[in-house]
Amino acid sequence: MPLLVVGSVAYDAVESPYGKVERTLGGAATYFAVSASFFAHVNLVAIVGDDFHAGDEAILRKRNIDIEGLERRPGKCFFWAGRYSENLNERVTLTTELNVFADFKPRLPVKYQDSKFVFLANIAPGLQREVLRQVSGRPKLVAMDTMNYWIERTNAELRETLKYVDILMINDSETRQLSSEHNLLRAAKHIFKMGPSTLVVKRGEYGAMLVDQNGVFCVPAFPLEEPHDPTGAGDSFAGGFMGYLAGGGAKNDAALRRAMVYGSVLGSFTVERFGLERLLSLRKSEIHARARHFSKLTQFKL
Ligand code: AMP
Repeated sequence: MPLLVVGSVAYDAVESPYGKVERTLGGAATYFAVSASFFAHVNLVAIVGDDFHAGDEAILRKRNIDIEGLERRPGKCFFWAGRYSENLNERVTLTTELNVFADFKPRLPVKYQDSKFVFLANIAPGLQREVLRQVSGRPKLVAMDTMNYWIERTNAELRETLKYVDILMINDSETRQLSSEHNLLRAAKHIFKMGPSTLVVKRGEYGAMLVDQNGVFCVPAFPLEEPHDPTGAGDSFAGGFMGYLAGGGAKNDAALRRAMVYGSVLGSFTVERFGLERLLSLRKSEIHARARHFSKLTQFKL
């Protein structure tokens, strides 16, 4: 089943202890779409400026991502710059320039309107809701991400969007910030009252945790000797997770657990190199091999 995503398509500048890139294709929707494209047909809704490079458009096309919903406008693409700490666990945002996103009015191409799987990647919550409003009927699954930037600046808008969402996928500090609860299980209960029935907490090198009415399920992060750049790991996790579900069409407990593993697999590949580099050389056989490795990593007898 096709998977609809709205979110940022951006240029990023990234500094980590392993190096630096001045301007590379990034954005939450980009990482999501490239990761999900290994499992499902992806329809992308976003906006870019006239500085969007033809080579970057070719990257999306090559992954078979539908870009009819990628609007072009005079102006500059979303730009984000960040710097990571020595151990890669913390990052500071140096610059966020919304540019063409500042007055984006998303319009869904007709063929996107009956989407059954929808991912609202990180972008202004008002835009996320506007996209959802144009989807006809009730989608089978709506998931979304957000970040501190939107929790702080557009909290009321964010709360409104959350009412229409099944799965919220955010990192641990965002979970605590949104719920005003330190304990993640208590935070989940708090968030369920806002709308979502499932919370997926992305915890960087500590893996990810899913909480829903059935209880809690955890996956580790794949242990890597030399991670280089965590940018986009969360979006790649979401892409692997939602791509796997949309590709299979199911959303039962067993499928959700496998989706958590495929999310973690895609996230782990992304951090191996800067930007999208590793994802663009990735083969499906490597994804499945790493998923099998995950199974071994977590097996034990009692
Ligand atoms: P992640 O590392 O998964 O949190 O995602 C990093 C990506 O999010 C980068 O490629 C940025 O371009 C994008 N990004 C950063 N800040 C924002 C924001 N405020 N809204 C939307 N996308 C953002």
